[in-house]
Amino acid sequence: MSIKDIKNSGLGDMPIDEFRKYGHEFIDWIADYFKNIESNTVLPDIEPGEIKSKLALEPPQKGESIDAVFSDFEKIIMPGITHWNHPNFMAYFNSTSSGPGILAEMLSAALNVNGMAWKTSPAATELEEVTLNWLKKMLGFPDNFWGIIYDTASISSMHAIAAAREQLAELKFRGKGMSGRKEIPKLRLYASEHAHFSIDKAIITLGIGLDGIRKILVDDKFRMISIELQKAISEDRENGWLPFCVVATVGTTSTTSIDPVREIGEICRKENLWLHVDAAYGGIAAVIPEMKYIFEGIELVDSIVVNPHKWMFTPIDLSAFYITKPEILKCAFSLGAEYLTSSEDSEVTNYMDYGLQLGRRFRSLKLWFIIRYFGVEGIQNRIAEHLRLANEFADWIESHPDFEKMAPTPFSVVCFRAHPKNINDEDELNAFNDKLLDEINKTGKLFLSNTKLNGKFVIRIAVSSIRTMEKNVKDAQHLIEQKMNELIN
Ligand code: PLP
Repeated sequence: MSIKDIKNSGLGDMPIDEFRKYGHEFIDWIADYFKNIESNTVLPDIEPGEIKSKLALEPPQKGESIDAVFSDFEKIIMPGITHWNHPNFMAYFNSTSSGPGILAEMLSAALNVNGMAWKTSPAATELEEVTLNWLKKMLGFPDNFWGIIYDTASISSMHAIAAAREQLAELKFRGKGMSGRKEIPKLRLYASEHAHFSIDKAIITLGIGLDGIRKILVDDKFRMISIELQKAISEDRENGWLPFCVVATVGTTSTTSIDPVREIGEICRKENLWLHVDAAYGGIAAVIPEMKYIFEGIELVDSIVVNPHKWMFTPIDLSAFYITKPEILKCAFSLGAEYLTSSEDSEVTNYMDYGLQLGRRFRSLKLWFIIRYFGVEGIQNRIAEHLRLANEFADWIESHPDFEKMAPTPFSVVCFRAHPKNINDEDELNAFNDKLLDEINKTGKLFLSNTKLNGKFVIRIAVSSIRTMEKNVKDAQHLIEQKMNELIN
């Protein structure tokens, strides 16, 4: 086809009337999806490759109708969906989206602004500043915390560690890099054995290498042992390493344990190390006054990440990152680009200067809608209810003769395993619980995840979906008990 023919074949976007018609229909579809969500199994029942085998291998030469595409969405895509918004999705850290968040995402896609600099959309930048200040107040963070939104906690922690490395200004990493320089000592970062693997990935990305991360032992509650941290730092210094950063976790991935931020912070101050806190899931709990204790010692922290997309009903993705020295982040990442400079630069924030990416979605819009729609009290009530339901579940586990709780429950995740009276061999128990989890998830009625603690297979239940109610947790109890009894018999 010639360029002329292509041009004549129709230009411009979807006609407005058509957009309006399908827009209404799609919203109706979404509303019905939520209304009937429990009629779906949480996990799809499909084989690997099944979805791909039903999709066309070649892109269509001619445009198709929205009806045709939507029909395939229902027939081919939906059967392969894991329903993260299902109230019985209780695996991992459950991210759920809420009505105001979904509506705001739609507006954000329609506006399609790129908030790389203030000039490229002043409202995007200023709303990000304001909503992050709101969230900072809600969580009780100090005034000197400066915020930026990244996509995920993994990327936030990578930026924290880049800032920690940049703080070693005399080593001139920004200009000279790390490779081929015999004069630079080997850098070392410390995190607990239970820290998320995103910290390891950050270390790989930043050229420090996995040898540059030292995992610190945890106590019987899976919290970093600060004396072990101190010992490791002193030992490393004696052996020629250059300690530069510590990552504490508030709400570890497996058990949601809480590292002692104050003790770790005091060591960091004494040793002049950057302290980053990964509170990706657990941090949101601090919206509740009684949970503020999780950040005891927060004034000693250099940077922290919390994920509204994990436990604040925000459609994935939105990670809130706070740092006390944004100028170091700027030193690490800003590069003047003539085509993006403007006369307002001295008065405004250009978020592109504080991270790797240039283009930035208008993520703060959904956070603003969510905080305004539910209000601080509405968010507090929902988080408090999750904590209550998880604690009730934990009590049930503890009082049941055939189950045992495998870790403390500071938040809304319960780690447990079945321990029938007649099984005492650890390998047999592991196999039993592995099978039990499989049998539960195979029903499609409930989705739980697992972890290993001290070599023991452990089942995890997370109560953090905006749609999970008391009835769902009670149904989960019944199903778990029923499947265990079936396996025993
Ligand atoms: N940190 C912790 C403690 C996590 O549990 C997770 C994921 O579960 C992450 C970081 C990574 O989160 P993200 O998917 O936002 O990168």
